Amino acid sequence: MRYISTRGGIAPIRFKDAVMMGLADDGGLLLPESIPTFSDTDLESWRGLSYSQLAFEIISRYVDDIPAADLRRLIDRSYATFSHPEVTPVVRQDGVHILELFHGATLAFKDVALQFLGNLFEYILAERNERLTIVAATSGDTGSAAIHGVRGKQGISIFVMHPEGKTSPVQAMQMTTVLDENVHNIAIEGTFDDCQGIVKALMNDLPFKQRHRLGAVNSINWARVLAQVVYYVYAWLKVAGPAQKVLFSVPTGNFGDIFAGYVAWQMGLPVQQLLLATNENNILTRFINKGDYSIGQVVQTVSPSMDIQVASNFERYLYYLFNGDTVRVGAVFEQLKKEGRIHFADDELARVRRDFCSASVNRVQTLATIGNFYKETGYLLDPHTAVGVKAARDLAAGSTPVVCLATAHPAKFGEAVQEATGQAVPLPPVIQRLSGLPTRCALLPADQQQVRAFIEQRMA
Ligand SMILES: *Cc1c(COP(=O)(O)O)cnc(C)c1O
Repeated sequence: MRYISTRGGIAPIRFKDAVMMGLADDGGLLLPESIPTFSDTDLESWRGLSYSQLAFEIISRYVDDIPAADLRRLIDRSYATFSHPEVTPVVRQDGVHILELFHGATLAFKDVALQFLGNLFEYILAERNERLTIVAATSGDTGSAAIHGVRGKQGISIFVMHPEGKTSPVQAMQMTTVLDENVHNIAIEGTFDDCQGIVKALMNDLPFKQRHRLGAVNSINWARVLAQVVYYVYAWLKVAGPAQKVLFSVPTGNFGDIFAGYVAWQMGLPVQQLLLATNENNILTRFINKGDYSIGQVVQTVSPSMDIQVASNFERYLYYLFNGDTVRVGAVFEQLKKEGRIHFADDELARVRRDFCSASVNRVQTLATIGNFYKETGYLLDPHTAVGVKAARDLAAGSTPVVCLATAHPAKFGEAVQEATGQAVPLPPVIQRLSGLPTRCALLPADQQQVRAFIEQRMA
């Protein structure tokens, strides 16, 4: 399997090189040259598999430069860290199936991909006798999942900047209580955008980037998408009969998670449609429902991990929408840069609406959904999951099974859940254990020179 760029500017590369490249060198995103498929018979033969066994069946179709036994070991090790024996169990509540993706180290779905990516990095770096320095900005979920994905790993150092005092207390503790020598937390006196700006400045400083072998862990890495394909298939096997179509409702920010569902569908999974659920940051909903892809201001919501206007993984979908026309992909992103919007042809929009339906769910609706769902079922939804559940309530019809992706544990966003239900959220043991633990975190001003000096000093 070879990997190409959505912008068509790189020679095809193999899986391990794609993992290490992250963003394609021509500024595009990496994709497999073709999507491998499976048949209904394959699917039926997978019904009894464990999560790890299924993950191997799917992932191995995209990887031909890691020996099978090694790949199995990497996958097994990644999912052994989950607290639930099924890794991503499906529970049925009030007519919908909830796919619980929050049983990993930091209680959000990002653990599914970042545990695997951390192990992959370590394996590839050891083989090549190389080092990697990850520099990341986070509003909470990505940073904590990345830290737990690479803590204690050989050959990797990680620097994570978060805006001081602006993550939830649980998110901050999940990051700063990690004392492994290769983990460096930096609280920045500023906003998330300041943190992101510093990361960009460091990445654009090529001598600095090369000296420290800087790498990124955001959801543009193909291995993250690939790991997420697995749970769509896993959920389907739990809820559907042979060849039965399913609708997946996916609370969406960067389009990474829902794009993994699109890949699962292209591989052969019987999918009715993908429901793209957004909060008030609804550029993707406006696009699907009105054909209007124009960037607005980021609004703060009760589902902060979806507070995004430019969804980086959307480019991967556009590559397929434009039938692999890499020149057109490059051109529309030029248009977006110049005009702040992309124009689509009517036949393209018709195809988008076959693939996706969409709804935007506001704060009041989100909190009401959490409150009502709790009253009716006793089950607590986190605010991100509630956005997907509400959208499914509004748009799903008929007898098609509906699977709502539960992207975070309710305790991770306990304040909003408490506001909605009037009750404190019981803390799971992995969070209880954190309080009172020693922490380590540097506090720096929003100044790239000072962050650069800090990294130089720690890496010396
Ligand atoms: C990151 C995140 C999302 C959004 O996922 P994307 O892949 O960016 O669309 C949704 N919910 C939670 C809890 C998240 O952490």
